[in-house]
Amino acid sequence: MKYGLPVIEAHEFACRDFVGGDAALDFINTVTGRDESPRDWLGTYESMLDWAALARLLPERNLKALRKEARRTPAAAAGALSRAKVLRESLFALISSLVAGGAPPTGTLELLQRHWAAGIEARELRLEDSRVVAQVRSDAADLDLVAAVVACRMIENVLPRPTNRLRMCQGGNCSWVFFDSSKAGGRRWCDMAVCGNAAKSRRFYERSRST
Ligand SMILES: [Zn+2]
Repeated sequence: MKYGLPVIEAHEFACRDFVGGDAALDFINTVTGRDESPRDWLGTYESMLDWAALARLLPERNLKALRKEARRTPAAAAGALSRAKVLRESLFALISSLVAGGAPPTGTLELLQRHWAAGIEARELRLEDSRVVAQVRSDAADLDLVAAVVACRMIENVLPRPTNRLRMCQGGNCSWVFFDSSKAGGRRWCDMAVCGNAAKSRRFYERSRST
């Protein structure tokens, strides 16, 4: 499959944009339509924070600190957004190769490992209700924090699950990735109401034309 360069598209994130089964997959899906006309919904660093808030990726206090830091140092925030997008495209390449049963492109795992290490640095272990949990440090406000936590989620939540349940939506102009947690493992679309119905109505249209 060939992929074009995505154009930036203004987008207000909503619950329907979170269908991947984990925030790390939903982050990849902030580019939509990679197979036909790719559009990138992360136009600014702030839009990435809006996404992170809806994804519940980071505690509110860290998001607030990042918003402040991005306003104070816009050039640095733009740099961090670019690095997050490099990670995003690399994760898409990784998931696509796993879906296809192939090896990820060179450098993919090294890049993921670097962001993962930053994510580990940004967290601390705490005792909560007799359980030890790893949580983002309350003072963590590095502009690369979103990418770092996405990398942790990918390694801790997505990659340990069965690879044969990773999917890419079969709808046209979509290419969203998701984890198929259905009992039978037959989920083909990111969202039945969006790509599933479009595919069905297209089939119906083609059938009715041929008769
Ligand atoms: Zn889809």
